[in-house]
Amino acid sequence: MSKKQIVIVGASHGGQEAAYEILDRYDDVDVTVYETSDFVSFMSCGMKLYLEGKTTGQDNVRNFTPEGLAERGGKVVNNTAVTALDPATKTVTVKNVKDGSTKEVSYDKLIISSGVNPASLPLPGADLKNIMLMRGYDCASEINAAAQNKDIKNVAVIGAGNGIAAAEVFAKAGKNVTLIDGGHKPLENYLNDTYTDLFAKELTDHGVNLAMNTKVTGFAGDGKVEKVETDHGEIATDCVIITVGIKPNTAWLKGTVDLYDNGYIKVDNYFRTNVKDVYAIGDAVFPFSIPANRRVPMPSAIAVRHEAQYVVEHLFEAKPERVFKGLVGAQLLEAFNLHAVTTGLSEKTAKHIGINAKETVLKSRLRPDYIPEKDNPVCYISVVYNEESHQLLGGSTLSSYDISGQANVLSLAIRNKLTLEDLAEADFFFSPTYDKQWSLVNQVVQKALGLKLTV
Ligand SMILES: Cc1cc2nc3c(=O)[nH]c(=O)nc-3n(C[C@H](O)[C@H](O)[C@H](O)COP(=O)(O)OP(=O)(O)OC[C@H]3O[C@@H](n4cnc5c(N)ncnc54)[C@H](O)[C@@H]3O)c2cc1C
Repeated sequence: MSKKQIVIVGASHGGQEAAYEILDRYDDVDVTVYETSDFVSFMSCGMKLYLEGKTTGQDNVRNFTPEGLAERGGKVVNNTAVTALDPATKTVTVKNVKDGSTKEVSYDKLIISSGVNPASLPLPGADLKNIMLMRGYDCASEINAAAQNKDIKNVAVIGAGNGIAAAEVFAKAGKNVTLIDGGHKPLENYLNDTYTDLFAKELTDHGVNLAMNTKVTGFAGDGKVEKVETDHGEIATDCVIITVGIKPNTAWLKGTVDLYDNGYIKVDNYFRTNVKDVYAIGDAVFPFSIPANRRVPMPSAIAVRHEAQYVVEHLFEAKPERVFKGLVGAQLLEAFNLHAVTTGLSEKTAKHIGINAKETVLKSRLRPDYIPEKDNPVCYISVVYNEESHQLLGGSTLSSYDISGQANVLSLAIRNKLTLEDLAEADFFFSPTYDKQWSLVNQVVQKALGLKLTV
């Protein structure tokens, strides 16, 4: 019997996870991953560390190598875009982006993890030199060159969400950085007011100029960018980094695979598209969110890895044995010495989708009061919960110290639909080496329940 042909589109987190899981799980398969880029599997999650000089080198910031996949029995074909899908013949058209040649490739199962591209700003002057985006290997090279370039003195970063990473990189490189956003405060779409105020202070304390409530209207310059034009006047700059959102890489699927109006791929509870034997995972789909109880965008490396693992497990079942349970969604947001981990829904998002949500924020020190302040960092922790049922919907931590473990506890609690009362009763270890008599998680739910704190 001939081997099943598995074709995967995109060699990033989703493509790697799917390829490796298939090769580990099944024997009678040929796995080929098509990737439009030259460099295979640059890990954008590691871009900031690379730009700060904290990695072993740009070419090592990746998920996997073609050789690594070959050792497992799979193949990745780079510089090759999948440009069309023909469900009738179960083939895809693949195009060599270097020489333009095309060929048809048959599949028994097709897994699409073509992800997203950063959104650009189609404004006057957008084609000037030194206007950059921030995703993938080539952007990392371009941004790194700009950070090292002594002639670049002023940098404008547009988008105070993920843009805070770029602002930090350029400020550390000695540039005069202006962070521009139409919103009131950095990270306001992700975090509560207490945290966004702390981030605004952290950024300005480290020399980043904040231009909030500011709408960019265009760019000006002679060949290369010299000014950002805004509704509040001009900002002189030698370089612009745009981080204003993402758009799915799905134009090639139009007319074949059902898409939402914004281009995201429609999938069912098993990540099946409307086309038989064609699956879609990753940033270009909306997975089911457990706390939201509906599909929401969840662009994260770990989301796509869970999705890939699930799809592979059920790839050859006529009807998948179980539906995908869903995800919670968590991410790190950091600038200089502040590190926030947010999980599940923010209060704003929960209210937006009609949940009667409330957030309680606790400020505490990590360890008992007899520990000197220099060894006893200030910590914030919050919980977002349904006011009637007390079901935990979200939460976050913030400190200069690593308290991401507490955020992971909240993630697990959200996944298992625990209530404030459940968490108040949960017992965790105590040692003054690491925490207080009551853990931060216990303390914040005690506060949410209106209990008097004893520590
Ligand atoms: C700067 C930055 C930092 C991030 N940090 C984190 C983090 O710390 N933690 C975290 O969880 N997530 C992080 N993310 C998000 C994470 O990178 C994405 O969620 C994840 O990469 C999504 O994986 P994916 O497989 O869906 O798609 P993508 O990573 O978008 O990859 C899609 C791949 O498909 C290729 N492709 C697209 N179309 C075609 C086609 N037609 N034919 C062939 N190939 C194609 C693309 O070239 C690309 O390589 C970060 C993202 C960025 C930009």
